[in-house]
Amino acid sequence: MDFAISDKMTELLARMREFVATDVIPAEADVMTNGFTKSDATLTALRDKVKEAGMWAPQLPTDIGGMGLSVLEHGMVSEVLGRSPLGHYVFGAQAPDAGNIEILHKFGTDEQKEAYLAPLAAGQIRSCFSMTEPHTAGSNPTLLSCLAEKDGDDYVINGRKWFTSAADGAKFAIVMAVTNPDADRHGRATQIIVPTDTPGFNLVRNIPVMGHAGEGYASHAEIVYENCRVPQSNRLGGEGTGFAIAQERLGPGRIHHCMRWIGICERSFDLMCSRAASRDMGGGKTLGTKQIVRAWIAEARAKINAARLSVLHAAWKIDNEGFYAAREEISLIKFYVADVLMEVVDRAIQVHGAMGITSDTVLAYYYSHERAARIYDGPDEVHKVVVARRILDRYKE
Ligand SMILES: Cc1cc2nc3c(=O)[nH]c(=O)nc-3n(C[C@H](O)[C@H](O)[C@H](O)COP(=O)(O)OP(=O)(O)OC[C@H]3O[C@@H](n4cnc5c(N)ncnc54)[C@H](O)[C@@H]3O)c2cc1C
Repeated sequence: MDFAISDKMTELLARMREFVATDVIPAEADVMTNGFTKSDATLTALRDKVKEAGMWAPQLPTDIGGMGLSVLEHGMVSEVLGRSPLGHYVFGAQAPDAGNIEILHKFGTDEQKEAYLAPLAAGQIRSCFSMTEPHTAGSNPTLLSCLAEKDGDDYVINGRKWFTSAADGAKFAIVMAVTNPDADRHGRATQIIVPTDTPGFNLVRNIPVMGHAGEGYASHAEIVYENCRVPQSNRLGGEGTGFAIAQERLGPGRIHHCMRWIGICERSFDLMCSRAASRDMGGGKTLGTKQIVRAWIAEARAKINAARLSVLHAAWKIDNEGFYAAREEISLIKFYVADVLMEVVDRAIQVHGAMGITSDTVLAYYYSHERAARIYDGPDEVHKVVVARRILDRYKE
């Protein structure tokens, strides 16, 4: 692997870091208190400033207004943006839109690109991805039961989904539904674009997560699709290709998430060290003089460094050898970085004492919202089992 960072990326990362520090982080407290919807004017102004500075949508191809960065380069960007819970949104790199843009760009028809991809890539609308169901195991999505049946030129969709992130206020959903019940398990499902104002698209509730239902972009919805009728021309790719297309968004998506988590680790680490270096514990000694706190700091530093290098290596492998060749590395970083994230945020909170669980720092937000890292994009256990199976296969006589 080539560890060198090009001059172009060094300059870009410095500009982004500066923007996050001087423009994004100061807006954080207000947006978190008032919510994304009420903060639309602030967020739009920040997005306009990012566009003017030529830093919009770093991960998108240039033909749809992005910066055309490689997976490795966007990984580095994702760490910088991850320093704020608003970073990815302000730079037009937020999930689930980023993944939806990726698959619309690759598999969408010209009409779908014009109606959905163009405004989404420009940040004029939002979208969501509706696959997981409350009554079937999300970690084995081949079990999903939401049905899309053909009726004339249409599909009629019936089923219940939940944890459809950012559905509240989204213009359309990409729904994973069973169109070919008798096909083999990986060929049963299809992705279908459903505008959220279609009759039968019923957003039942924003699900409370750790006590907060959230709203707008920062929410996860339960949706009942009830005789929800859309034209067959809203199908993304061929019938039965739902899982194959879903794979496309997961490889780069996991790199982006992992590097975002490293950005969170770095911010938490900075907070932890500042607090340790300044908190007076009496006798002229700071908290940072305590041996146990020093051990936490050293351990956190080593783990964040190891996590970053592992993710960049996986990203480099995707760029050079493709997603398929990098599957093992992607699974390894998914659970390893999630674990490092949990530990670093927890230690940073502990160093802050009671203040750590207040909203006076960003740590409590991270603690409640990022616990999900071990569950989405494949629960950690699934990745561990898959990686170990592959490794053991190599030892078979
Ligand atoms: C914050 C958040 C955002 C999300 N956003 C979206 C979204 O936008 N769209 C969407 O469609 N879905 C979304 N999801 C859903 C997510 O993809 C699923 O929660 C995930 O796939 C796990 O499915 P499940 O919750 O049904 O858990 P289950 O499949 O019931 O698994 C429960 C637990 O069992 C264990 N387990 C599972 N499989 C194995 C195994 N093979 N071996 C050992 N242990 C195992 C794991 O510990 C797992 O956590 C989101 C989830 C969260 C938490």
